[in-house]
Amino acid sequence: AAESGWRWDKAVCRFCGTGCGIMVATKEGKIVAVKGDPAAPVNRGLNCIKGYFNAKIMYGADRLTTPLLRMDEKGNFSKQGKFRPVSWKRAFDEMERAIRKALKEGGPEAVAVFGSGQYTIQEGYAAAKMMKAGFRSNAIDPNARHCMASAVVGFIQTFGIDEPAGCYDDIEITDTIVTWGANMAEMHPILWARVTDRKLSDPERVKVVNISTYRHRCSDLADMEIIFRPGSDLAMWNYLAREIVYNHPEVIDWDFVKKHTIFATGFVETGYGMRMPDEAKKLGYSDKELETIKEEANHTVTEREAGGLAPLGYKAGDNMKMVHRGHALGHWEISFEEFKKGLEPYTLDYVASVAKGDPDESIEVFKGKLEALRDLYIDKSRKMVSFWTMGMNQHYRGSWVNEQSYMVHFLLGKQAKPGMGAFSLTGQPSACGTAREVGTFTHRLPADLVVKSPKHRKITEKIWKLPEGTINPVGYQHIMNIHRQIEDGKIKFAWVNVCNPYQDSANANHWIKAARKMDCFIVTSDGYPGISAKVSDLVLPSAMIYEKWGAYGNAERRTQHWRQQVVPVGDAMSDTWQWVELSKRFTVKDLWGEATIKGGKKLPNVIEKAKAMGYNEDTTMFEILFANDYYRSFKADDPIGEGFDNSEVFGDNRNVLGSDGKPWKGYGFFIQKALWEEYRKFGLGHGHDLADFDTYHRVRGLRWPVVDGKDTPWRFNVKYDPYARKHAKPGEEFAFYGPALKVLKRGSLKKIDPSMGKVDLHNKAKIFFRPYMDPTEQPDKEYDTWLCTGRVIEHWHSGTMTMRVPELFRAMPEALCYMNPLDAKAKGLKDGDMVWVESRRGKVKAHIETRGRNRPPRGLVFVPWFDERVFINKVCLDHTCPMSKQTDYKKCAVKIYKA
Ligand code: SF4
Repeated sequence: AAESGWRWDKAVCRFCGTGCGIMVATKEGKIVAVKGDPAAPVNRGLNCIKGYFNAKIMYGADRLTTPLLRMDEKGNFSKQGKFRPVSWKRAFDEMERAIRKALKEGGPEAVAVFGSGQYTIQEGYAAAKMMKAGFRSNAIDPNARHCMASAVVGFIQTFGIDEPAGCYDDIEITDTIVTWGANMAEMHPILWARVTDRKLSDPERVKVVNISTYRHRCSDLADMEIIFRPGSDLAMWNYLAREIVYNHPEVIDWDFVKKHTIFATGFVETGYGMRMPDEAKKLGYSDKELETIKEEANHTVTEREAGGLAPLGYKAGDNMKMVHRGHALGHWEISFEEFKKGLEPYTLDYVASVAKGDPDESIEVFKGKLEALRDLYIDKSRKMVSFWTMGMNQHYRGSWVNEQSYMVHFLLGKQAKPGMGAFSLTGQPSACGTAREVGTFTHRLPADLVVKSPKHRKITEKIWKLPEGTINPVGYQHIMNIHRQIEDGKIKFAWVNVCNPYQDSANANHWIKAARKMDCFIVTSDGYPGISAKVSDLVLPSAMIYEKWGAYGNAERRTQHWRQQVVPVGDAMSDTWQWVELSKRFTVKDLWGEATIKGGKKLPNVIEKAKAMGYNEDTTMFEILFANDYYRSFKADDPIGEGFDNSEVFGDNRNVLGSDGKPWKGYGFFIQKALWEEYRKFGLGHGHDLADFDTYHRVRGLRWPVVDGKDTPWRFNVKYDPYARKHAKPGEEFAFYGPALKVLKRGSLKKIDPSMGKVDLHNKAKIFFRPYMDPTEQPDKEYDTWLCTGRVIEHWHSGTMTMRVPELFRAMPEALCYMNPLDAKAKGLKDGDMVWVESRRGKVKAHIETRGRNRPPRGLVFVPWFDERVFINKVCLDHTCPMSKQTDYKKCAVKIYKA
């Protein structure tokens, strides 16, 4: 009786990349309950503490319900004005005005979008399509840049195709689980529950190792904990590889290595992950900030890193020439002997001296742990999974350290097999499904296509029915570049979608100041007024999770769809609707003339070609980009999903009228289905096959590639992956068929040697040699402590949703500065004291916690970033991996003192 009148339906959790299935109960237009979906293979009925509050996040007291514009007393837009409610029509009028101004003053690339790994797939697809095809701007990049861009580079460079080979079933099959920079107990709690279940089911045989820069909850279950110095995971992976190659060659799976891999390396010169010193100086960066910026530009090889760089000819004191500003650094094939030579310095003694992270642990104990770790990896009888998340991705050499994990697994032949593999976990619910697969990154198009490839642009233009030459070939505006270009005055319009970049970007002071000071119109679409909304000029109320149709793709390639359950609160509308409505404001004539882009290059005028395709100058982008053939084929009375009565949703006019007043029966459903069916064309037949829209509404997700209705648990393995079967030579068990694996030049450890010709990489993955290098900023006399940031189980990202759930707020009401009690004592501090955490970039106040769930070694503090009152990203360094452009939030230098 308690559930009388409730309608239950399957859906997906709004939060992490685990991708748990949720059952959602609706009554009288409101979500009244959620529970774990017992039929969901990921979570089997369980949820974590956040998952159980998926409904409550939608009903916070300050939910945004109407567009808000900064206006003066007369009702005109004013950058200095106060937020006042406006209609959707006025909101779109202001956006249109600001975009036209930006296009006129700065060209297509002056229009930018902060996208998200929390976009639904259709939202991301709509945003990327309107930006790349409509505005011809590649200045769109998701917050997933901060989350797993390094993993993407690792995948593309190693496998030639993105995303993990394995799946969550590995947890139940393996007998050895090593976490490298992944607090799964708090960040992927349901997966950790599965790890715990596995461990407890066979405690003697199953071994769990937690490798981290500080002690956290994973250590409670682990058989061994290794605390390492920030950044030195690069050296530890090389230690493992060295042990295999020099001391235990009998464990090398030569059959696997010879048939399926080649050895490779690349440049080691410091790529550029921050502003150039001269431009920073011109912009008024402080002398303190310039200290780190100059160090990166003019790096002197340290004693510590010199040991590992010796085979490349560097010695301590050498100046490391900065040759790139961080675009794709070249790499080439080397011989096994060269690879071995690179590893030579990574002895137990050297690596222990570089990597020991706990000053209170003896070097002998640390060495013993490294040896024990080696023994687990090289034990031929052991299945082995290495998991990682932000510790290895948010890393000044994130791309390298990702590649190193595959290096070790490949040497041992422990990859692409059930229960074995290096497995990158994602943080966000659709970092895989949307950010990566849809192509919302600046340089990407759907299904691993990239803007710089003429062939890929042509494929995209064909599917999108665009004139040839429409898509901008230059994709360089990653998320930190978007911030920096707003600060430089180059970007004049920026739209924040499903994220909070003014809280989640490192060195945030600069970007907030730029947003408020520069001639740039900032729009934020969100459910709640977070920091990004507060610094914006226009705020748009967005529909939240079950107020819209959607789909996410999780960390095991599982795509899961859900249906809209309720009408959005107030005037909130889905982000897809917002993009589609905006597209009605711009025509062929407005956007497709000749335009100037980066470096004075020209985008061609494609208006005549558009006319030849049947468009005219006044055809709107809506008609070209969104009213596709699928959309036009639907009839008003077509059924909306099988066996699902959501007439209460579709009886609401806000879902059936466009802002132009034309009736759109079942707007949400039809546009979602139309976008999905078009989008999936990109992957069909290319290893990214997705099922049709209706299939996903019948099942609990499918892991792509989905071929003949079957999903693929393990890729590259002929037993499980139809594409591996298609590509493998007769009798072979594996095929690394990634299309980006083509031809590679040859060379030595130090350089490409053109006289050595090229190698055909068909079906072969790469084993990279990557050296250890020091972090950009390290503790010194003045800033004597490492700062590491991250999340806690109770809160999601910047806290805009979970801080509004009373139960979650009470469980973790503020971000604490976790500190070693001996450090606190030495600084005259005690548990609970309010302290300043100060870096060269800024300072914030926080209470210290010396006995909590996170227990750092001396010399390191951990501060979560969910709390906008403890705005830790003002303190963090905006340094990125030069290849992936992912920011390193895990290490910078701070000082701690009583507030
Ligand atoms: Fe599952 Fe993650 Fe949601 Fe928790 S937050 S229920 S682990 S998807």
